[in-house]
Amino acid sequence: MIRRQWLKVMVMTTLMGLSPVIEGKGVERLVIIVSIDGGKSSAIKMLLSEKKLPNLERLMDEGSYTLTAQTVIPSSTAPAHISMLTGIDYPKRFPNDEAIVKKNEPFDDSRHKPVSVTTVFEVAKRAGLRTALIAGAGKRIKYAEKPKTLDVAQYLPNDDERLQLAIDLLKDEKRRPHLLFLHLTETDHAGHKHGWGNDEKGIPPSLEYLQSLQNIDRRIGKLVKALQEFNLWERTLLIVTADHGGIDKNHGGKTPDELTIPWITAGGLARRSSELRTKRTIFVYDTAATALRALGLPIPSNWDGEPVWEALKSNL
Ligand SMILES: [Zn+2]
Ligand SMILES: [Zn+2]
Repeated sequence: MIRRQWLKVMVMTTLMGLSPVIEGKGVERLVIIVSIDGGKSSAIKMLLSEKKLPNLERLMDEGSYTLTAQTVIPSSTAPAHISMLTGIDYPKRFPNDEAIVKKNEPFDDSRHKPVSVTTVFEVAKRAGLRTALIAGAGKRIKYAEKPKTLDVAQYLPNDDERLQLAIDLLKDEKRRPHLLFLHLTETDHAGHKHGWGNDEKGIPPSLEYLQSLQNIDRRIGKLVKALQEFNLWERTLLIVTADHGGIDKNHGGKTPDELTIPWITAGGLARRSSELRTKRTIFVYDTAATALRALGLPIPSNWDGEPVWEALKSNL
């Protein structure tokens, strides 16, 4: 079954002549997915109105965005990221998955296995591209690390170390990933410790949480600057999104505080649409499909996610 699907994908790729190269230029494309763990949309909106997220503001201005994208239920780190990286509504398809869906457990090598479904890295790897996953030491994203699908898979304790590794990889022409996932987590730690606020009760986010968002904005600015310095920005699609928001000092539930996430594309492969006015809701699992489309790769037919066409340059 799996083999047949792959055969289909390969035949389609050949027939459609898709390749991860920009037509006529012979230049390789790059897709970078940055996930802000616990990046709450309403808090981002508030800081943007106060001009306190200059880097995100510039990306939104130059690319496309919505601050009303939706994550999956439960709005927890493992199910949301696994959906983001497998193109499906993972908890809806696998409601009885103990480790990922029911318990949101850190990956434990002695008890857990990577997912059986196709990951975005798997599609890219099978097309001969280089892939990298740089995530938090909590290892709730390690379920997406299937054998032989990632050139780099690193779990590091803090944002700055992860960012530095991402920049080092991007700088190194031989190791540079075509598809890079970067997990930033300071926001989630600040939310659990100091609070995300509560929109319904009119409680604003804690100052510590707001500061963590500003710190992450600065890190994203550093990443973009590096891409520009390495002359990669024009051939990059940068997707900045989140796994969930938060309410009071937690998340996992169904409130808009927890479910609403930012979804931003920028870089040379993004369309300059500014605020996306799509009729459909953009979901966290549309990220994987958009990433594959930007790389010129076919999207597995059983995915729930679809490319967000309005966020991509029309010739992609
Ligand atoms: Zn999370
Ligand atoms: Zn959390």
